Amino acid sequence: MENCLFCKIAAGSIPSDKVYENEELLVFKDIHPAAPVHLLIIPKQHISTLSDCTGTDAGLLGRMLALVPELAVQQGCQVQQDEHGNRQGGFKTLINSGPDGGQEVYHLHLHMIGGPLPWRGQR
Ligand code: 5GP
Ligand code: ZN
Repeated sequence: MENCLFCKIAAGSIPSDKVYENEELLVFKDIHPAAPVHLLIIPKQHISTLSDCTGTDAGLLGRMLALVPELAVQQGCQVQQDEHGNRQGGFKTLINSGPDGGQEVYHLHLHMIGGPLPWRGQR
């Protein structure tokens, strides 16, 4: 897709801080991180917005989300229990969609935001 920032990142014509890649998906660091860990998970194929997705995209959407636990381990923000059984670690996942949903880049992306608190806008 011409003039799409994330298509250009997927094609390598605009540089990014890549943390994971396979045939279908690319994961790179957000340029303005909202937390110690802030990744963007994108399909290499252009889809403008979640609002354009249908049941035929269920596999792709599932694989985007299913990658998150592996990324959390890689980034050191997985949910785990300490010796007292208290949970620690963690992250948020978010897909902004459309103007009212705060979407700025019209190439589908899943935010993964995590790491030790405090984060911007969150205690
Ligand atoms: P949206 O608001 O569309 O859900 O999020 C777009 C995200 O892309 C923002 O968090 C923004 O910081 C990030 N972003 C925008 N331009 C670039 C860029 O050129 N490189 C990277 N790595 N992230 C970008
Ligand atoms: Zn695109």
